[in-house]
Amino acid sequence: MTNNEVLPASPDAGNSTGVLELRGIHQSYGTGDAQVHALRGIDLSVAAGEYLAIMGPSGSGKSTLMNLLGCLDVASSGTYSLAGNDVNDLDEKQLAQVRNREIGFIFQSFNLVPRMTALQNTELPLAYGGVKYAERKRRALEALAMVNLSHRADHQPQQLSGGQQQRVAIARALVTNPTLILADEPTGNLDSESTHEILAILDQLAAEGRTIVIITHEEMVAERAHRVVTISDGLIISDRLNRDLVPMN
Ligand code: ADP
Repeated sequence: MTNNEVLPASPDAGNSTGVLELRGIHQSYGTGDAQVHALRGIDLSVAAGEYLAIMGPSGSGKSTLMNLLGCLDVASSGTYSLAGNDVNDLDEKQLAQVRNREIGFIFQSFNLVPRMTALQNTELPLAYGGVKYAERKRRALEALAMVNLSHRADHQPQQLSGGQQQRVAIARALVTNPTLILADEPTGNLDSESTHEILAILDQLAAEGRTIVIITHEEMVAERAHRVVTISDGLIISDRLNRDLVPMN
Protein backbone atom coordinates (compact mmCIF):
# COMPACT_ATOMS: atom_id res chain seq x y z
CA MET A 1 0.00 0.00 0.00
CA THR A 2 1.46 3.37 -0.92
CA ASN A 3 0.94 6.21 1.46
CA ASN A 4 1.21 9.22 -0.81
CA GLU A 5 -2.21 10.41 0.14
CA VAL A 6 -2.71 10.15 3.85
CA LEU A 7 -6.25 9.04 4.36
CA PRO A 8 -8.79 11.01 6.36
CA ALA A 9 -10.75 9.23 9.06
CA SER A 10 -12.85 6.34 7.72
CA PRO A 11 -16.19 7.86 6.73
CA ASP A 12 -18.32 5.46 8.73
CA ALA A 13 -16.06 5.13 11.73
CA GLY A 14 -18.10 5.73 14.83
CA ASN A 15 -21.54 5.55 13.29
CA SER A 16 -22.89 2.30 14.61
CA THR A 17 -19.97 1.36 16.85
CA GLY A 18 -17.18 3.45 18.29
CA VAL A 19 -14.24 4.61 16.27
CA LEU A 20 -12.28 2.93 19.06
CA GLU A 21 -13.62 -0.36 20.41
CA LEU A 22 -11.88 -2.29 23.18
CA ARG A 23 -13.38 -5.57 24.37
CA GLY A 24 -12.09 -7.66 27.26
CA ILE A 25 -8.60 -6.17 27.16
CA HIS A 26 -6.08 -7.80 29.48
CA GLN A 27 -2.43 -6.90 29.62
CA SER A 28 0.14 -8.74 31.71
CA TYR A 29 3.84 -8.25 32.11
CA GLY A 30 6.30 -10.98 33.14
CA THR A 31 5.53 -14.59 34.04
CA GLY A 32 4.95 -16.81 37.07
CA ASP A 33 5.18 -15.17 40.49
CA ALA A 34 6.55 -11.98 38.95
CA GLN A 35 3.55 -11.55 36.65
CA VAL A 36 1.79 -8.18 36.85
CA HIS A 37 -1.77 -7.81 35.55
CA ALA A 38 -1.70 -4.20 34.42
CA LEU A 39 -5.12 -4.30 32.73
CA ARG A 40 -7.73 -6.79 33.89
CA GLY A 41 -10.66 -6.59 31.47
CA ILE A 42 -11.19 -3.20 29.84
CA ASP A 43 -14.30 -2.61 27.71
CA LEU A 44 -14.39 0.82 26.16
CA SER A 45 -16.10 2.36 23.18
CA VAL A 46 -15.22 5.86 22.00
CA ALA A 47 -17.42 7.58 19.43
CA ALA A 48 -16.09 9.68 16.57
CA GLY A 49 -15.82 13.28 17.73
CA GLU A 50 -15.67 12.39 21.39
CA TYR A 51 -13.16 14.09 23.71
CA LEU A 52 -12.32 11.55 26.39
CA ALA A 53 -10.06 11.91 29.42
CA ILE A 54 -8.58 8.85 31.09
CA MET A 55 -7.67 9.35 34.73
CA GLY A 56 -6.30 7.12 37.47
CA PRO A 57 -3.68 7.01 40.18
CA SER A 58 -0.09 6.07 39.48
CA GLY A 59 0.23 2.37 38.68
CA SER A 60 -3.45 2.02 37.71
CA GLY A 61 -2.63 1.08 34.10
CA LYS A 62 -2.91 4.40 32.24
CA SER A 63 0.38 4.11 30.34
CA THR A 64 -0.36 0.50 29.51
CA LEU A 65 -3.72 1.54 28.10
CA MET A 66 -2.15 4.46 26.23
CA ASN A 67 0.39 2.09 24.63
CA LEU A 68 -2.42 -0.18 23.47
CA LEU A 69 -4.60 2.67 22.18
CA GLY A 70 -1.58 4.06 20.33
CA CYS A 71 -0.83 0.64 18.76
CA LEU A 72 2.60 0.77 20.39
CA ASP A 73 1.83 -2.57 22.01
CA VAL A 74 -0.69 -5.38 21.54
CA ALA A 75 -2.82 -6.73 24.40
CA SER A 76 -2.26 -10.15 25.97
CA SER A 77 -5.93 -10.87 25.27
CA GLY A 78 -9.07 -9.09 24.14
CA THR A 79 -9.76 -7.14 20.97
CA TYR A 80 -9.08 -3.58 19.90
CA SER A 81 -10.41 -2.05 16.75
CA LEU A 82 -9.41 1.43 15.57
CA ALA A 83 -11.30 2.95 12.64
CA GLY A 84 -12.30 -0.53 11.54
CA ASN A 85 -8.76 -1.98 11.76
CA ASP A 86 -8.62 -5.02 14.00
CA VAL A 87 -5.32 -4.21 15.68
CA ASN A 88 -4.79 -7.76 16.98
CA ASP A 89 -4.48 -9.05 13.41
CA LEU A 90 -1.76 -6.63 12.34
CA ASP A 91 1.95 -7.36 12.04
CA GLU A 92 4.65 -4.86 13.08
CA LYS A 93 4.74 -3.14 9.71
CA GLN A 94 0.97 -2.74 9.58
CA LEU A 95 0.91 -1.47 13.16
CA ALA A 96 3.47 1.17 12.21
CA GLN A 97 1.28 2.15 9.28
CA VAL A 98 -1.84 2.45 11.47
CA ARG A 99 0.15 4.57 13.95
CA ASN A 100 1.35 6.85 11.16
CA ARG A 101 -2.00 7.22 9.37
CA GLU A 102 -4.61 6.99 12.08
CA ILE A 103 -3.04 8.42 15.24
CA GLY A 104 -1.61 11.81 16.13
CA PHE A 105 0.52 11.54 19.27
CA ILE A 106 1.10 14.33 21.79
CA PHE A 107 3.52 13.54 24.61
CA GLN A 108 4.29 15.21 27.93
CA SER A 109 7.88 15.91 26.88
CA PHE A 110 6.92 17.14 23.36
CA ASN A 111 9.37 14.71 21.67
CA LEU A 112 10.46 17.16 18.99
CA VAL A 113 13.65 16.50 17.03
CA PRO A 114 16.19 19.06 18.38
CA ARG A 115 17.97 20.30 15.26
CA MET A 116 14.91 20.44 13.05
CA THR A 117 12.75 23.51 12.62
CA ALA A 118 9.12 23.65 13.71
CA LEU A 119 8.17 23.16 10.07
CA GLN A 120 10.44 20.13 9.62
CA ASN A 121 9.19 18.59 12.87
CA THR A 122 5.61 19.07 11.74
CA GLU A 123 6.33 17.49 8.35
CA LEU A 124 7.85 14.33 9.83
CA PRO A 125 4.76 12.07 9.87
CA LEU A 126 4.12 13.01 6.24
CA ALA A 127 7.75 12.29 5.35
CA TYR A 128 7.43 8.84 6.94
CA GLY A 129 4.18 8.44 5.01
CA GLY A 130 5.96 9.14 1.71
CA VAL A 131 4.23 12.46 0.95
CA LYS A 132 6.17 14.61 -1.54
CA TYR A 133 8.06 17.72 -0.41
CA ALA A 134 5.79 20.51 -1.72
CA GLU A 135 2.63 18.85 -0.43
CA ARG A 136 4.34 18.16 2.90
CA LYS A 137 5.35 21.76 3.31
CA ARG A 138 1.90 23.06 2.40
CA ARG A 139 0.17 20.80 4.89
CA ALA A 140 2.72 21.41 7.66
CA LEU A 141 2.30 25.19 7.28
CA GLU A 142 -1.46 24.71 7.44
CA ALA A 143 -1.09 22.68 10.66
CA LEU A 144 1.23 25.30 12.19
CA ALA A 145 -1.34 27.97 11.35
CA MET A 146 -3.99 25.94 13.24
CA VAL A 147 -1.90 26.28 16.41
CA ASN A 148 -1.04 29.95 15.69
CA LEU A 149 2.64 29.29 15.09
CA SER A 150 3.12 30.30 11.46
CA HIS A 151 5.54 33.00 12.58
CA ARG A 152 7.79 30.41 14.27
CA ALA A 153 7.97 27.88 11.41
CA ASP A 154 11.75 28.36 11.00
CA HIS A 155 12.60 28.14 14.69
CA GLN A 156 14.18 25.11 16.30
CA PRO A 157 12.74 23.67 19.53
CA GLN A 158 15.39 25.28 21.76
CA GLN A 159 14.31 28.69 20.44
CA LEU A 160 10.72 28.09 21.53
CA SER A 161 8.98 28.15 24.90
CA GLY A 162 7.55 24.93 26.35
CA GLY A 163 4.04 25.94 25.32
CA GLN A 164 5.21 26.73 21.80
CA GLN A 165 7.03 23.41 21.57
CA GLN A 166 3.85 21.62 22.58
CA ARG A 167 1.96 23.57 19.93
CA VAL A 168 4.44 22.30 17.33
CA ALA A 169 3.83 18.79 18.66
CA ILE A 170 0.08 19.35 18.24
CA ALA A 171 0.64 20.58 14.67
CA ARG A 172 2.67 17.43 14.03
CA ALA A 173 -0.19 15.35 15.48
CA LEU A 174 -2.74 17.09 13.24
CA VAL A 175 -0.81 17.09 9.99
CA THR A 176 -1.95 13.64 8.84
CA ASN A 177 -5.59 14.42 9.71
CA PRO A 178 -5.63 11.34 11.96
CA THR A 179 -8.65 9.42 13.20
CA LEU A 180 -7.46 9.78 16.79
CA ILE A 181 -5.48 12.42 18.66
CA LEU A 182 -3.84 10.64 21.58
CA ALA A 183 -2.32 12.88 24.25
CA ASP A 184 -0.32 11.62 27.23
CA GLU A 185 -0.20 14.23 30.03
CA PRO A 186 0.20 16.99 27.41
CA THR A 187 0.31 19.78 29.99
CA GLY A 188 2.44 17.89 32.53
CA ASN A 189 5.60 19.90 31.74
CA LEU A 190 3.95 23.31 31.28
CA ASP A 191 3.34 26.38 33.42
CA SER A 192 -0.23 27.43 33.99
CA GLU A 193 -0.37 29.97 31.17
CA SER A 194 0.90 27.46 28.59
CA THR A 195 -1.43 24.84 30.06
CA HIS A 196 -4.41 27.09 29.36
CA GLU A 197 -3.14 27.73 25.86
CA ILE A 198 -2.82 24.01 25.09
CA LEU A 199 -6.19 23.18 26.66
CA ALA A 200 -7.81 25.92 24.55
CA ILE A 201 -6.34 24.36 21.39
CA LEU A 202 -7.66 20.94 22.43
CA ASP A 203 -11.09 22.52 23.08
CA GLN A 204 -10.98 23.97 19.58
CA LEU A 205 -10.03 20.62 18.04
CA ALA A 206 -12.87 18.96 19.94
CA ALA A 207 -15.28 21.61 18.69
CA GLU A 208 -14.15 20.78 15.14
CA GLY A 209 -15.26 17.21 15.77
CA ARG A 210 -11.91 15.51 16.19
CA THR A 211 -11.67 12.41 18.34
CA ILE A 212 -9.35 13.05 21.27
CA VAL A 213 -8.18 10.78 24.07
CA ILE A 214 -6.13 12.47 26.75
CA ILE A 215 -4.42 10.79 29.67
CA THR A 216 -4.11 12.99 32.70
CA HIS A 217 -4.05 12.92 36.46
CA GLU A 218 -5.25 16.51 36.72
CA GLU A 219 -8.97 17.01 37.36
CA MET A 220 -8.71 20.52 35.92
CA VAL A 221 -7.56 19.03 32.60
CA ALA A 222 -10.11 16.19 32.64
CA GLU A 223 -12.96 18.65 33.22
CA ARG A 224 -12.46 20.05 29.73
CA ALA A 225 -13.25 16.69 28.11
CA HIS A 226 -16.76 15.49 27.20
CA ARG A 227 -16.28 12.30 29.12
CA VAL A 228 -14.01 11.03 31.89
CA VAL A 229 -13.10 7.39 32.40
CA THR A 230 -11.29 6.53 35.62
CA ILE A 231 -9.22 3.40 35.95
CA SER A 232 -7.94 1.79 39.08
CA ASP A 233 -5.95 -1.38 39.41
CA GLY A 234 -6.41 -2.22 35.72
CA LEU A 235 -10.20 -1.80 35.65
CA ILE A 236 -12.59 0.99 34.69
CA ILE A 237 -14.21 2.12 37.91
CA SER A 238 -16.17 5.08 36.61
CA ASP A 239 -17.29 6.54 33.31
CA ARG A 240 -18.98 9.93 33.49
CA LEU A 241 -20.16 12.54 31.02
CA ASN A 242 -19.11 16.13 31.71
CA ARG A 243 -21.40 17.30 28.94
CA ASP A 244 -23.17 15.81 25.98
CA LEU A 245 -21.44 15.36 22.70
CA VAL A 246 -23.15 17.66 20.23
CA PRO A 247 -23.72 15.79 16.94
CA MET A 248 -21.81 17.43 14.07
CA ASN A 249 -24.56 17.07 11.47
P1 ADP B 1 0.20 4.24 35.24
O1 ADP B 1 0.53 4.75 33.87
O2 ADP B 1 -1.24 4.43 35.61
O3 ADP B 1 1.12 4.73 36.29
P2 ADP B 1 1.22 1.70 34.24
O4 ADP B 1 0.39 1.31 33.07
O5 ADP B 1 2.56 2.29 33.99
O6 ADP B 1 0.36 2.63 35.20
O7 ADP B 1 1.45 0.42 35.16
C1 ADP B 1 0.43 -0.49 35.56
C2 ADP B 1 1.08 -1.65 36.29
O8 ADP B 1 1.87 -2.41 35.39
C3 ADP B 1 2.03 -1.21 37.41
O9 ADP B 1 1.92 -2.13 38.47
C4 ADP B 1 3.38 -1.27 36.75
O10 ADP B 1 4.39 -1.50 37.72
C5 ADP B 1 3.24 -2.45 35.82
N1 ADP B 1 4.07 -2.32 34.60
C6 ADP B 1 3.97 -1.36 33.67
N2 ADP B 1 4.85 -1.58 32.68
C7 ADP B 1 5.54 -2.70 33.00
C8 ADP B 1 6.58 -3.46 32.38
N3 ADP B 1 7.11 -3.11 31.21
N4 ADP B 1 7.02 -4.56 33.02
C9 ADP B 1 6.48 -4.95 34.20
N5 ADP B 1 5.49 -4.30 34.84
C10 ADP B 1 5.02 -3.19 34.25
